[in-house]
Amino acid sequence: MRRWILAVAAVLALASVGCTGSRMVLGTPPPVARDAFTYRPIECRPGRVLATAPVEPPPKLDLKPPAPALPDHDPAWEANGASRPWRWIVIHHSATEKGGAAAFDDFHRNGRRWDELGYHFVIGNGTGSGDGEVEVGSRWPKQKHGAHCRVGDNEEYNYFGIGICLVGNFDRSSPSEAQMASLCRLVEYLAARYRIDGAHLIGHGAVGDTRCPGRCFPFDRLFARLHAARQGFAIAR
Ligand SMILES: [Zn+2]
Repeated sequence: MRRWILAVAAVLALASVGCTGSRMVLGTPPPVARDAFTYRPIECRPGRVLATAPVEPPPKLDLKPPAPALPDHDPAWEANGASRPWRWIVIHHSATEKGGAAAFDDFHRNGRRWDELGYHFVIGNGTGSGDGEVEVGSRWPKQKHGAHCRVGDNEEYNYFGIGICLVGNFDRSSPSEAQMASLCRLVEYLAARYRIDGAHLIGHGAVGDTRCPGRCFPFDRLFARLHAARQGFAIAR
């Protein structure tokens, strides 16, 4: 009986102090930490963490066709801000041998009592400005209507027409090569930028009671140049 009591006492003693050989501990298990089940990144190798950041959605595809490139042009011809809904390009001559934007501006303000230069662009002949030099009128950056082609009470060509004046009297002579080259380049740009087709490229005399831009103005050469520069430019007469 004494042996049996000693054996039970030995088992109880072992249970209370643990079995150090296998590190196993008997008794009440330790409490589970509250954050024991929170997610922890998996490290597959030192310094690299997988799947911890939200996945970015793929970029949306832009399915719109790219805008067609505009023809070569002078940056000064670009009007900032909202543009007027231009639908005509109206060509004029100054009917003078000499001149330029500054001289015509003075005449329109002080001679005609207009608000400012009536044209949007002036192409020089080497007198008041360079031969073929394109001067941008003060209306253009403001996208203001023109004062160059009133037909009776009809303001269509002033309100929606871009006025281009070439310096010279083309009842007597033709524009210079430099003027024609600049005119073609300017019209190419404006027609593409404002989607104006050849039917809406006109001389002043096509709608007004005037010979402007003169009997010698070479519309054939202009349209031939435009057609060569942009295949498909509609030639309207
Ligand atoms: Zn005119």
